[in-house]
Amino acid sequence: MYNSIVNFIRHIFNEQEEFIPLHAPVFVGNEKKYLNDCIDSTFVSSVGKYVDQFEDKVAEFTGASKAVVCVNGTNALHLAMLLIGVEREDEILTQALTFVATCNAISYIGAHPVFLDVDLNTLGLSPVAVRDWLDNNAIIKEGQCYNKKTGRRIKACIPMHTFGHPMMIDELIDICNKYNIVVIEDAAESLGSFYKGKHTGTFGKIGAISFNGNKTITTGGGGMLLFQDKELGLRAKHLTTQAKIPHRWEFMHDEIGYNYRMPNINAALGCAQLENLERFVTDKRETATLYKDFFRNIEGVEFFTEPDHCYSNYWLNTLIFKDKKAQQEFLKYTNNNGVMTRPVWQLMNKLIMFKDCQTDSLKNTEWLEQRIVNIPSSVRLKK
Ligand SMILES: *Cc1c(COP(=O)(O)O)cnc(C)c1O
Repeated sequence: MYNSIVNFIRHIFNEQEEFIPLHAPVFVGNEKKYLNDCIDSTFVSSVGKYVDQFEDKVAEFTGASKAVVCVNGTNALHLAMLLIGVEREDEILTQALTFVATCNAISYIGAHPVFLDVDLNTLGLSPVAVRDWLDNNAIIKEGQCYNKKTGRRIKACIPMHTFGHPMMIDELIDICNKYNIVVIEDAAESLGSFYKGKHTGTFGKIGAISFNGNKTITTGGGGMLLFQDKELGLRAKHLTTQAKIPHRWEFMHDEIGYNYRMPNINAALGCAQLENLERFVTDKRETATLYKDFFRNIEGVEFFTEPDHCYSNYWLNTLIFKDKKAQQEFLKYTNNNGVMTRPVWQLMNKLIMFKDCQTDSLKNTEWLEQRIVNIPSSVRLKK
């Protein structure tokens, strides 16, 4: 059976011999042209027209009022928390089923992640789990939400749109609003994914995107923040540029800033990649349909499909095996046979840095950890 799956994957990627990666970048547009332009003009660093263009184009595509580039998705998340006033010792609600960057960013501020369960039909943070946990643990004092047991302020909630599939963001925001908790969306994996027709990352106060090499489009390394509040976006820009007050020759700074701005050369790559984003997502969705039809006839494993009301970019295609044994056997067989597959990240609450953090039962999270395998998902457009 595993052999027929490997053959099918080789067939759809039209690759009979070579190693098939999980997600490789594809450059079929103006990448070289724009990169050459940067070099010819000498504008390769933190100033240049591609930075502004890239921000404007992403804002237009996602429907955000303002988009601000960062050096990567991790510092985009860090900056988002600084912007909404997260402080040392605050608590941040998030999911244990995520990439470590989400929790690292929380730790940069000295805040504490709290790990709550995900939904089986979205793989993202469960609004019901958040509500239940808040109903049992939270209290509002002078307009702020506090944890009754630890006494710490619960400042923000960071849901993640796992593998590009939108979670139930509107329901989550309703609950967080009742508790005065700010929502920041970790939309690192979900550029090109929409929930009820609206782009992921534009529901919360701030959304964070990643353009790492394995994401749907790449700038080499890079990130972006999405804002509805334009003023907050302008403040983000200020913080990413060492909090320098714009002036033609004077160097003046009015607070502690960061060197978090994406260089022009990366933004040039991003502009070229963005021109193909819709083609890429269409292609990825076709791959997902091929997988879906194929796995319908395979026993003991299910292909994960986009939740209701969602248009997903299918960043990483996902299988759910019947049990851990089948998951492990499949991982071994495929990786031994030149087809890269991988389990979900080790759960955050099991990492040594976060092992003492609060959690709920994490029932669905642990069930999924034993069963998820991601399979090759690169864009298949011909070079
Ligand atoms: C990729 C990713 C990030 C971080 O992005 P980088 O650009 O690699 O720093 C954050 N969160 C999630 C869920 C991611 O998948």
